[in-house]
Amino acid sequence: MILKAIVFQGNSTIINKNYPDPEAGTGEVVVEMKAAGICGSDLQILTIPTPPPFVAGHEGAGIVHEVGKGVLDFRVGDRVAIYHHHGCGKCTLCKMGRNMQCAERRGLHWHQNGCDSDYFLTKAKFCMKLPDELTFQDGAIIGCAGGTAYSVVKKMALSGCTSFVLFGAGPVGLSILMVARVYGVRPIVVDMFEDRLEFSRRFGANELINGSKIDTLKAVMELTNGKGAERIMVAAGSHQAQATAVQCLAANGRIGFVGMGAQKNSIDMNHFIRQEATAVGSYVFSRTDYPEMVEFLLKYDIHYSDMVTRTFKLEEAEEAYRLFAEGAAGKFMFVWDN
Ligand SMILES: [Zn+2]
Ligand SMILES: [Zn+2]
Repeated sequence: MILKAIVFQGNSTIINKNYPDPEAGTGEVVVEMKAAGICGSDLQILTIPTPPPFVAGHEGAGIVHEVGKGVLDFRVGDRVAIYHHHGCGKCTLCKMGRNMQCAERRGLHWHQNGCDSDYFLTKAKFCMKLPDELTFQDGAIIGCAGGTAYSVVKKMALSGCTSFVLFGAGPVGLSILMVARVYGVRPIVVDMFEDRLEFSRRFGANELINGSKIDTLKAVMELTNGKGAERIMVAAGSHQAQATAVQCLAANGRIGFVGMGAQKNSIDMNHFIRQEATAVGSYVFSRTDYPEMVEFLLKYDIHYSDMVTRTFKLEEAEEAYRLFAEGAAGKFMFVWDN
């Protein structure tokens, strides 16, 4: 059998390519894909002249189709979400399940085939069982944006904070809103696109600031009685957004950065130091966070897939990425038959 996959060809060209069906070796499983998300980081790879020669995609969920030798934790038919950071597999961080922090930054699409394909081969240890209450689309989002959001919110000490600003209303930002809502925050959301701002209301945005039209710092100060925000999360990778976010901090504030840009940036550290603020770096999520995250999502009835605004077939990849790159609201998803 032949499987279909998405491959980036450089300078924003995308093709559908056929591959022979993968076979599960020792410790491996083949996953029949059911949902695969389009991520902001895909767009960064899409535009470079020579992208990695692998199948695209790193956010996926599906059904275990074949199990290799020595795989004890999974059976054919299990529903799974996919963990995309592999690392070296040997160092302490990898052994702790913190593969995303391994010095060897290995993972889907960069060093092996990604999951935007009918079938996907991976080591079984990078599969995470998906409970029946969560959809495949929920699972795909958990594997990247959703897991990132959960992980950073946990570090933000939101309880009791009276002012909370989110920069960036893309999929990570929306996931942050869904999780942060549980803590009763009244989010001020900043973005450059009106559609994305309006869409964020559905996930609890209380005040909207369009940074392309008004002075964000001034607006945040007005909304916080001149104090600045106690908690700020930056799910935007632009220098401008990150620098403005720091300026918006209140005394003893706490800021979490999750949006990574393509270029290095400069931040007003003097302001940061004077505010005695706490910075939280947070990068994707640890495999060991997964069970408690699932428990949290089930307990508070959070479905990340509520933000999916369009679904596509793999054959429609070109259109999907083009529309997503234009700053569309919500999350886009490749789906098979679910
Ligand atoms: Zn992603
Ligand atoms: Zn490692």
